[in-house]
Amino acid sequence: MIISTKKGTPQVELDRIIDNFEKQGLSVTLIRGEDYNVFGLVGDTTKIAEKDVLANPWVDNVTRVSAPYKRANRLFHPEDTVIDVRGVQVGAAAPVTVMAGPCSIEGAEHTMRMAQLVKAGGATMLRGGAYKPRTSPYSFQGLGTEGILDMVRAREATGLPIVSELMDEAHIDEFEEYVDVVQIGARNMQNFQLLKAVGKMHKPVLLKRGLANTIEEWIMSAEYIMAGGNEQVLLCERGIRTFEKYTRNTLDLSAIPVVKEKTHLPVIVDPSHATGNYKYVQSMAMAAVAAGADGLEIEVHDNPQCAWSDGAQCLKPDLFAETIEKCRLIAHAVGREM
Ligand code: PEP
Ligand code: MN
Repeated sequence: MIISTKKGTPQVELDRIIDNFEKQGLSVTLIRGEDYNVFGLVGDTTKIAEKDVLANPWVDNVTRVSAPYKRANRLFHPEDTVIDVRGVQVGAAAPVTVMAGPCSIEGAEHTMRMAQLVKAGGATMLRGGAYKPRTSPYSFQGLGTEGILDMVRAREATGLPIVSELMDEAHIDEFEEYVDVVQIGARNMQNFQLLKAVGKMHKPVLLKRGLANTIEEWIMSAEYIMAGGNEQVLLCERGIRTFEKYTRNTLDLSAIPVVKEKTHLPVIVDPSHATGNYKYVQSMAMAAVAAGADGLEIEVHDNPQCAWSDGAQCLKPDLFAETIEKCRLIAHAVGREM
């Protein structure tokens, strides 16, 4: 971290600044200029916030040289992390993974049918929401435990690991017992209490990027989970809010190489919530694989017009299978199995 102080800062203030940082275990180098003084701080500066340093009226400018995250940082963990989900490997050179299924779980029979259909179309995991974060309190809120148990039965029949969203700490025991990948939805990306709780879990976490969050904020949320002891984090880009209206969100494809450069965690892309329209899902899925995504999360429904949520963005099983086939060609072209 580099700090410059204002012209004419008295020596006693400079000494106070040095003393304050040294007490925090940092080594401080002072470069004296004619008008300004510049400090270089070396050590673990993750606990220091730039805006707190600026609270000192003698401080003119603060520049962070290193990233504020440690555990997620590729600098301290150069190898790609590979996450094992019931025998399905995700990350590094592992085959591109495919999490697919309905937005909401819609009962035992439908879940079983969807699991079989997505498996036949190339899915490696079954996704489905039993607790739904809906914008309106009057919309369907999810089947709850019953939905989770529908997924468990589908897993027993197909062998597909199950991915489902956790919204409330109160359901942690249920998820620990039944769910293979705990999804933290975009709306909860900065629910720090929930992130801390998930950091104590023993299951991989699929952390979706918030609707309007920067990549650094997203990685800091991963850091929350990892700081709690759970290092099995998968980052999921699902589109961010922009001024564009023709798509539900804007898929930030550039997040894939950026996250891969900054962190060692696997990156999953959700082209369904990113576009909000089934017509655009295939091309964005192919683009994500081309850009190096370690996996896809895609909503699939056999009768999208009657889906209990997000029907407009669900692929019918045939289009899903065709999409995976095309993604496979892309994966092979970029030297990846799928
Ligand atoms: C979902 O995956 O069903 C979901 C609600 O996604 P997001 O949190 O990305 O909106
Ligand atoms: Mn959905």
